[in-house]
Amino acid sequence: MNPLADRPILIASGNIHKHKEICRALDLPSGKVLTPLDIEETAGTAPDPVEDGDSLLENAIIKAKAFSKWSGMPALADDTGLFVDDLGGNPGVHSARYAGENASFSDNVEKLLRELSAVPESSNESHFSCVLVLCDKDEIILSVEGTCPGHIAESPRGSDGFGYDPVFIPLNETQTFSEMTPDEKDQLSHRGQAVRKFANLYKEILTTGAKS
Ligand code: IMP
Repeated sequence: MNPLADRPILIASGNIHKHKEICRALDLPSGKVLTPLDIEETAGTAPDPVEDGDSLLENAIIKAKAFSKWSGMPALADDTGLFVDDLGGNPGVHSARYAGENASFSDNVEKLLRELSAVPESSNESHFSCVLVLCDKDEIILSVEGTCPGHIAESPRGSDGFGYDPVFIPLNETQTFSEMTPDEKDQLSHRGQAVRKFANLYKEILTTGAKS
C-alpha cells in the first residue's frame, strides 16, 4: 500500500466554490479531504502564492507546492481558465484578474461581454480548461486536465455557481452553468471531468504505488 493512503489530501485553494465542487466529485470518505479552513487554526494563515506561471499547469504546480509545504499534507491545486476563440484565447490563464488585480466575478464577466460585443459576427465559442495537480512538498504526484467546450451567452443568466458560470453555456445545452443544479454542472464541467480522472488515477496510485 502506498504511504499516501494514510494521509488526507488538502485542497490548495481558498475558493469555497471549488472546495464544494472538488469534494462532491472526489467523493472520498469524510476526513480524507480537508480544506485550508479545517487546519488554519493550527497551521496559521494559508499561503497566497503569486500565480505568475505561463500556463494553467505552471500555476497549479505553484499553488500545490505552496499549500503542501505550508500544511505538510499532499495538496491538490486547481487552476482554471476560460478561453474565448474570438478574443485570441483570452481571458485564459489570466481569467481571475481579467478586469484588474482585485476584480470581482461580475467585473470580469462585464469586461468579457464588453470585449466580445466589439467583435463583429463573433461565434462566442469558448472552452473552460481545468488542470489539477497533486504535490507532496516539491514532488509532483500527478496532474490531469478536464475541458468543457461551449459558448458565451449574450447576458448573464442564473444564480448558482461562481466566476464566469452566468455566461457560459456548455456545448449542446441551452442553460448557463449558473442556471443548472450543482450536479448538472458537475456532470458536464471541466472541473467535474478533471476530478473524476484524478480520482481514478489516485485510487490506482494508492493501490499500486505507480505514478502517471
Ligand atoms: P483560478 O483557477 O482560481 O485562478 O480561477 C480563474 C478564474 O476563473 C476565476 O475568475 C474564477 O472565478 C474563474 N473560474 C474558475 N473555475 C470556474 C468555474 O467552474 N466556472 C466559472 N468560472 C470559473
